Amino acid sequence: MSEQNRDPVHQNILSLHGDLLNELRLIFTSKDREYLDKYESLTEEKRKECDEFVEFFSHCPRCKKQNPKYNLIGLFLDETPKKQKIKKKLVKLMKDLKNNNISVSVGVLCCECYKEIFEKDIP
Ligand SMILES: [Zn+2]
Repeated sequence: MSEQNRDPVHQNILSLHGDLLNELRLIFTSKDREYLDKYESLTEEKRKECDEFVEFFSHCPRCKKQNPKYNLIGLFLDETPKKQKIKKKLVKLMKDLKNNNISVSVGVLCCECYKEIFEKDIP
């Protein structure tokens, strides 16, 4: 099927930007649906903290590529002790840097940089 013959809905889907597609993935995969439900059940204060977290760590500090939003939301909301520990440290780091107006390049590595440095996939 050529580009011109596609119906308007199909055309719209094709024209969506990566970010919006990520948002759609957030809605359509069951794991991310679970995160969305958890996100919605957060207190307003925690939701703001989650938004701030996602924004603050939105880019890989090494290659500067954008980290997938749903992965960051997933890290923030994951309740396994190991991930909670990482999240708490990252939130503390974020708040310390912001509160003291310190500008340094910190962040969460993207999948590719993580694999390159640690020679394994993100757990
Ligand atoms: Zn990277």
